[in-house]
Amino acid sequence: MKTDCVIAGGGPAGMMLGYLLARAGVDVVVLVKHADFLRDFRGDTIHPSTLDVVHELGLLDEFLRRPHDELRDVALRVGGEQAQIADFRHVPTHCKFLMMMPQWEFLDFLAGHGRKLPHFHLLMQTEALGIVSENGRVVGLTARQPEGELEIRATLVVGADGRHSTIRAQAGLRVQDLGAPMDVLWMRVSRKPGDPPDLFGQIDAGRMLVMIARGDYWQCALLIPKGTDAAVRARGIAALHESILGLSPWLGDRVEELVDWDQVKLLTVTVDRLQEWAKPGLLCIGDAAHAMSPIGGVGINLAVQDAVAAARLLAAPLREHAVDLAALQRVQRRREWPMKVVQGMQLAMQDRMIKPILAASGPVRMPGFMRLLGRVGLLRRIPAWFIGVGVRPEHVR
Ligand SMILES: Cc1cc2nc3c(=O)[nH]c(=O)nc-3n(C[C@H](O)[C@H](O)[C@H](O)COP(=O)(O)OP(=O)(O)OC[C@H]3O[C@@H](n4cnc5c(N)ncnc54)[C@H](O)[C@@H]3O)c2cc1C
Repeated sequence: MKTDCVIAGGGPAGMMLGYLLARAGVDVVVLVKHADFLRDFRGDTIHPSTLDVVHELGLLDEFLRRPHDELRDVALRVGGEQAQIADFRHVPTHCKFLMMMPQWEFLDFLAGHGRKLPHFHLLMQTEALGIVSENGRVVGLTARQPEGELEIRATLVVGADGRHSTIRAQAGLRVQDLGAPMDVLWMRVSRKPGDPPDLFGQIDAGRMLVMIARGDYWQCALLIPKGTDAAVRARGIAALHESILGLSPWLGDRVEELVDWDQVKLLTVTVDRLQEWAKPGLLCIGDAAHAMSPIGGVGINLAVQDAVAAARLLAAPLREHAVDLAALQRVQRRREWPMKVVQGMQLAMQDRMIKPILAASGPVRMPGFMRLLGRVGLLRRIPAWFIGVGVRPEHVR
């Protein structure tokens, strides 16, 4: 097979890049490992700046008709004290809310629009296995399908295959591991009228639970110290119920909906970044270039922003089949510092907040700056702007 650009990975970064390049007249092949996009417990947030991109593509009205929730407030309870800490009503974007949408809806939406373009080719059940190099340049990749293996030759290979990227490992790109003190257990509990609204974080000695309103259920993320999943499971499901009830007693007997550990999924948290995102013929974007912590739920937005920048900078050279290393490095230069600012904030939150909370055995107090956010409504616009819009939002021309 031959194409202009082959993209390994059909997550937010890969699907957005594939769609944008095909829309710009570049022949693209996107490889998706699974038979469909249906997997639960992935990041499901669509940020106002990503919604601006969808708006600029002229697809927003149709997108908003897909099932979603709109979050305008974020609240936090620490010990017995509660505060609103972010207000999205004033973000300087078209949509003034954080959208919660199952990630498969977002990916399916992009795939549907991509398939209408003659240059967009989506290969499902196709797993990238390795890269093909010739004379010091990456010239394609090998992949496995149920029918057998194939080789795809391309002017550019993009690794958008997430934080365990095969492509970046095969390319020998150096990864800097920045560390994370926690892992996350994901689960669902039903939601009832009268429950707290929207997005809700709860913290107490040694525990933190984030609850995201999803229609008739709560998507719950329980933070546990890194590497303790087996120990937590060994304590039994009743101990898990107790942990959750200790933070959210108002859930009552709803915790018993969690009857066994199959309903609880471990997501290991990794925070890392590549020193070089590119080598001749190859570029990594999204989590493959910089795995993001779940703090702030910004990973999808950054992956999409990488894709928008990459499409804008590379569409013309790709059409001319002349993509040199300098062009690929321009993508890294454009996106690296916004990513470093966000990762820097995440690392500071991990060290100054998450680590002490998970290590605490006594009462935990609301940090002073969060108390201030709770008291001064105007200040709540700052975290909403940082999370919802972020540093250097990208635009589609
Ligand atoms: C616990 C946890 C919770 C999170 N919650 C949020 C959140 O609420 N909001 C948010 O914005 N971000 C969240 N994130 C981060 C977010 O999931 C990522 O930053 C984001 O999905 C990155 O997008 P991506 O397209 O770069 O990679 P991915 O979303 O990882 O997509 C990569 C795709 O490539 C596929 N793939 C992998 N290997 C191959 C291969 N060899 N061949 C073909 N395909 C392959 C994978 O199956 C996957 O579909 C969370 C992360 C964690 C760990």
